[in-house]
Amino acid sequence: MNATPVKQCNNEFMKQNEKLTAVAVFCALKKAYHPPRTFLSWKTPLDLLVATILSAQCTDARVNIVTKTLYKKYRSAEDYVKVSRKILERDIHSCGTYRNKARFLQEMCAQLIEKHHGKVPQTMEELVQLRGVGRKTAAIILWTCFGRNEGIAVDTHVIRVAQRLGLSCHKDPKKIERDLMESLPRKKWGEFTTLVISHGRAVCTARNRQCQKCQFGQRCPSSSKLGKNDLAKA
Ligand code: SF4
Repeated sequence: MNATPVKQCNNEFMKQNEKLTAVAVFCALKKAYHPPRTFLSWKTPLDLLVATILSAQCTDARVNIVTKTLYKKYRSAEDYVKVSRKILERDIHSCGTYRNKARFLQEMCAQLIEKHHGKVPQTMEELVQLRGVGRKTAAIILWTCFGRNEGIAVDTHVIRVAQRLGLSCHKDPKKIERDLMESLPRKKWGEFTTLVISHGRAVCTARNRQCQKCQFGQRCPSSSKLGKNDLAKA
């Protein structure tokens, strides 16, 4: 897919900054966060699928603590299905909303056994059919485990940074993903996600954006350095 201009918004300031494209952001972040890294620990696609389900409304640090023992105990989809729900709930309790998450894990693993011989499928269409797996999780699995660029995982960091940089004026993750996919060559989608998440964690944080030390400080339409309002709060 060719890089096309980012969808423009009815926002004068963002129009003035149309040169800050998703491709330019990608290139700048690639220099700053190299090599790109994922924040959830995993060894197998099933591990990462489990970790992403556990990470809903939970910190990655907490998930990594829980999965350290969980991965040793549950090595296959069968292991998650055959354990009692109560025991699984206890094992993931500290990740929060543990009843729903335990149910999702067991139902998802039952689907893997029934439809995919216990393996994690490698297409977006199949992944989003799994219990507890949405497009965001599927995009993460496809890129991280299989190197496939099937979408951009729009999490809270990607939403915030994309809005602040003027890469999308939308609030709906699907529309933000569409704007970003239209602006970036497909081969960059997965890496872009990881880089933006890194920036959202390290510099362009939710509560205290650090524009003074940000490489986009002079061009970003939300730069506090330039006295601009935060477009993520617009
Ligand atoms: S200049 Fe500030 S608001 Fe813009 S990307 Fe950098 S940290 Fe975020």
